[in-house]
Amino acid sequence: MVLLPDEQAVEIHMSREPKTYPAGEEEAGIDLGVTEVLTDDSGKKYRPEYGQALQEMSDHVLDKGRKRQKLWALYRKNRERDPGKARRIRRHNLGLVKQHKRHRRYRAWCENEINRAFRAFFRERRPRVIAYEDLSHLRGKARNKGLSRKVSQWQRQAIRGRLEYLCHVYSITDPGPVNAAYTSQTCPCPGCGWVDGKNRNGDLFRCQKCGYEGDADHVAATNVKGRLRDQEITKYTPHKEVKRILLKRYWENHA
Ligand SMILES: [Zn+2]
Repeated sequence: MVLLPDEQAVEIHMSREPKTYPAGEEEAGIDLGVTEVLTDDSGKKYRPEYGQALQEMSDHVLDKGRKRQKLWALYRKNRERDPGKARRIRRHNLGLVKQHKRHRRYRAWCENEINRAFRAFFRERRPRVIAYEDLSHLRGKARNKGLSRKVSQWQRQAIRGRLEYLCHVYSITDPGPVNAAYTSQTCPCPGCGWVDGKNRNGDLFRCQKCGYEGDADHVAATNVKGRLRDQEITKYTPHKEVKRILLKRYWENHA
């Protein structure tokens, strides 16, 4: 039992071993996102509602941060001139109770989206192993959308926790993140494999060599999955070396 000081509530934590399932057969690749929670190598997008939840949480955090900064400035200005007013600002406007309550609601909303996405993915795919990129890449994706740094940090933690938990429930041994270098720029067609920054334009992937067109996240998830069995490109292969290997493969295909 945990007493939450600023919620005036009591939370009861039940520690019960979750029901576990035997591992499935499949290998699956996922691309984590900031619009939907994830896209898998079949092209399915899980919980596209997530983007809005994350955006609103981020807006709330950024807006609150700005307002609080202004109030702190007002507090400092009045500290000597009008200590009574300063004290009131401190107590009524700079308290943390209300802020925490609102924030908790946003967090619960996002957590719910993450849970639902991963549950659906594990249930539908029943993977034996999951290929995924290093979670730090999510920061770049969040930055592109202008999401708050705090929210992005929180998101990585929430996803890591969910992934760990469900890997346990579905008896999956997690090999850790694969090397995802150039997975969003490489043509997934077996006979092609051309790597080029121009292949990707926002959500759209269009191979500059063979003309293959597809959803960029789907392409990334497919390539991430391919890295599971890649003998040459391992977790430790440097970025530049990855590109050299990919180009070598393309030119071998087209000799
Ligand atoms: Zn191609």
